[in-house]
Amino acid sequence: MARAGTLFLLASFGVIVVSAGNWHHPRDHPVYDLFKRQNASAGALPAIGSAQWNSTYPEDISNATVPDAWMAAYTTAKAAGLIPNISLTTVGADGVPAYPAGDDPNSAEICSGTYQCRINGTTTEIWDAPDGHVGLGFDDGPLPYSPPLCDFLKQQGQTATHFYIGTNILQNPFVFQGCMEDPLQTPAVHTWTHPYMTTKTDEQVLLELGWTMQIIHDSLGGRLPRFWRPPYGDTDTRVTAIAYYVYHLTTVVWNQDTNDWMLEDPTDNPDNVITNQTVITNLTNWLSGPKTPGLIILEHELSSSAVQCFIQTYPLHAQNGWITGSIPDTFDQAAFLNSWNATSPVTPLDIAATPPSSVGPPAAPAAATTAVAAGASASSGASVAAGASKSTSNNSSNGAGSIAAISTAALLGAALCTLVFSY
Ligand SMILES: [Zn+2]
Repeated sequence: MARAGTLFLLASFGVIVVSAGNWHHPRDHPVYDLFKRQNASAGALPAIGSAQWNSTYPEDISNATVPDAWMAAYTTAKAAGLIPNISLTTVGADGVPAYPAGDDPNSAEICSGTYQCRINGTTTEIWDAPDGHVGLGFDDGPLPYSPPLCDFLKQQGQTATHFYIGTNILQNPFVFQGCMEDPLQTPAVHTWTHPYMTTKTDEQVLLELGWTMQIIHDSLGGRLPRFWRPPYGDTDTRVTAIAYYVYHLTTVVWNQDTNDWMLEDPTDNPDNVITNQTVITNLTNWLSGPKTPGLIILEHELSSSAVQCFIQTYPLHAQNGWITGSIPDTFDQAAFLNSWNATSPVTPLDIAATPPSSVGPPAAPAAATTAVAAGASASSGASVAAGASKSTSNNSSNGAGSIAAISTAALLGAALCTLVFSY
């Protein structure tokens, strides 16, 4: 599906220079005063873009050692039978990750996202939005194409989730900073180097997810993201279980793919095999189509063209009566493991540590929020949101209940994992 994208991304990463050199603003630049979320409550975190910040992260995670605390959490989950032993994939000449002969990617034991198998009941994995909702997300940032997107979202007062690549945060710290300054924008994990995750060993999966959580934590006042998206949708029971039972990350896939990663951009992807009009037509059809299930559309901030396709079709969301929001908004969930949203208090929390049992929403704002019809049914794939009522704001009063639902799902998952993975 995205083999050319792999090449592009790898090519991009080849020029990353991890230093406190000349690519970011000097320390006395006014941008440092703009980022109010940096010093929220997490103590002495290094300033984003600073030399100390840069030096925190491994230059090459393929040679890195998994930090002890992350490995300890993994060992505990593994010993509890929560992380299955299944074979790694290899990417063939067709660009598709393949399991060894005889392994069925659609079996309950493996259930590969690349093969459109939806994991149900074992761990939380989201494919669909609740009826009538669009879960809005953008992949592969932060990049130079991101600011116009973030400016537009801010202008519209629109919440959205940004599935960020760790090395892109490292390379574009002030793009990250500028976008996240809008409290309506939610960061999520899109791995450190954007690999096919089912090709990676358990230790490599730990590094890909853990370091991306770490850089977001360090750059956002100690907040820890609670959603991740596998590059190319490539996950399976093993990878999804590591994400959930080690890092408490819920996997978010999608149910419509714009293919906007293939769009031409003068300075970007040379593999121009579709046009803006193709992407716009797809978006128009989906946004004019049935409300069941709700939409989670794969879109990117990977080129100016991709951003423009979203902006051009954005009015169709409201015109067709969709309720559009970030992933946490759509599922009425906390945006972070240790904080309800971008402006609420932060409970200091290390990577892979057990999150607080409840992350409550902040006090109700002075302005009334607009309630919408509760009881929008969550789809079968979105067990995390089952039974959650909806609101158009993050400031819902049932945040603790939503987290409790996750805990219940985790317990159920633990029980089912034991059953499913024991043979
Ligand atoms: Zn991606």
